[in-house]
Amino acid sequence: MPEPARGPTRYDDPMSAPQTPSPTDLIHHDYLPPDGFRAPMPGIHKASTVIFSNVAAMRARDWQHKTGYSYGLHGTPTTFTLEERISSLEGGLQCVLTPSGLSAIANVNLALLKTGDEVLIPDNAYGPNKALAQGELKAWGITHQLYDALSPADLAAKIGPRTRLVWLEAPGSVTMEFPDLPELVRVCRQHGVTTVLDNTWGAGLAFNAFALPGLAELRGSAGVDLSVQALTKYPSGGGDVLMGSVVTRDEALHLRVKLCHMRLGLGVGANDVEAVLRSLPSMALRYAAHDRTARALAQWLAGRPEIAQVLHPAWPGSPGHAHWRATCGEGAQAAGLFSVVFDDQFSAAEVDRFCDRLRLFKLGYSWGGFMSLVVPYDIGTMRQPGVSAWPHRGVLVRFSIGLESVDDLRADLDQALAALPAHP
Ligand SMILES: *Cc1c(COP(=O)(O)O)cnc(C)c1O
Repeated sequence: MPEPARGPTRYDDPMSAPQTPSPTDLIHHDYLPPDGFRAPMPGIHKASTVIFSNVAAMRARDWQHKTGYSYGLHGTPTTFTLEERISSLEGGLQCVLTPSGLSAIANVNLALLKTGDEVLIPDNAYGPNKALAQGELKAWGITHQLYDALSPADLAAKIGPRTRLVWLEAPGSVTMEFPDLPELVRVCRQHGVTTVLDNTWGAGLAFNAFALPGLAELRGSAGVDLSVQALTKYPSGGGDVLMGSVVTRDEALHLRVKLCHMRLGLGVGANDVEAVLRSLPSMALRYAAHDRTARALAQWLAGRPEIAQVLHPAWPGSPGHAHWRATCGEGAQAAGLFSVVFDDQFSAAEVDRFCDRLRLFKLGYSWGGFMSLVVPYDIGTMRQPGVSAWPHRGVLVRFSIGLESVDDLRADLDQALAALPAHP
């Protein structure tokens, strides 16, 4: 290869074009910044291509373990860093990142289920988890049944010879029932069925999904086999990132997830990982603040005549409250999410107007961010009849409590409640 033209422009011939630097210099340049730069935030690495030092290294690449790099899709220093942090946070040993919480759910299903298998899902589970089972999984010959999250007996009765995977969620992310997690896991173990928890609510802070009270260690875990999170929620905290994670404590299980992840091409973008790495250090403080404000507002709403029921794991009258206390332990945390059921004198249209009147609470899906959100739900359309009890007739409204001042949020709720029509 000829040496690229270099050197200062020659002035002897005013008509000769100035010699431009070779564009090759813009691509291949000898300069390397000095090693040893450290800062609170890790450097962010972006790559599709990963450069190997020689052909032998290229041929020896290992995309299964974090011993090196092979291709950006399969990991960079940036994604490995977040994976290790999420894994430690949840008490796990391995982690893969996916482009959304929902794709983490899909990754687990596709890694562990095949035609002829059955998966069991709580009927109060995150809706798109059920929708995936009703859509693609069904079309591929993977059946599912919904079970009552508050009834280990119902789960036990539904486990059959084809059951390969049981989803758990604590609490249900709209109706907020907190299940007896250790008992549900025990039932699955008795039947040799793999368990996966949607741990978005607990976020690795409220309880350790791999060390549940009263369970002995089995295959490296005293709890669930896999834990999935929507990092979109508390770990991001910004309402501006979509990301998911799958954490395990079993190398063989992790490799099944990781191989499926690779085959499906579920890599994540470095900018999004950077945003989560930036938010993660403040997550525990944010989580506690969301929790404090949510409890204060839930308690205040419980005293309002317009509200028939508060659904918040820490609220004594809420379904599964005792399980929440047993699983989350002393000083138990409870995130920033809760729902209320309006008195059934208020029509769905009136409750919609209540939501529309809120000014600080914005209408929008998701949760875990700094901005408070509200969504009215029609639970009747979300439950399969006959699986679990839904004794309420009024409309449910779910609040995701942000980081605003509790007094301002209370005043906002107060003005919107005051505008509800008075029924005789
Ligand atoms: C939001 C959410 C998900 C999915 O996360 P996305 O990143 O929005 O796909 C999964 N499970 C629960 C409980 C959630 O709240």
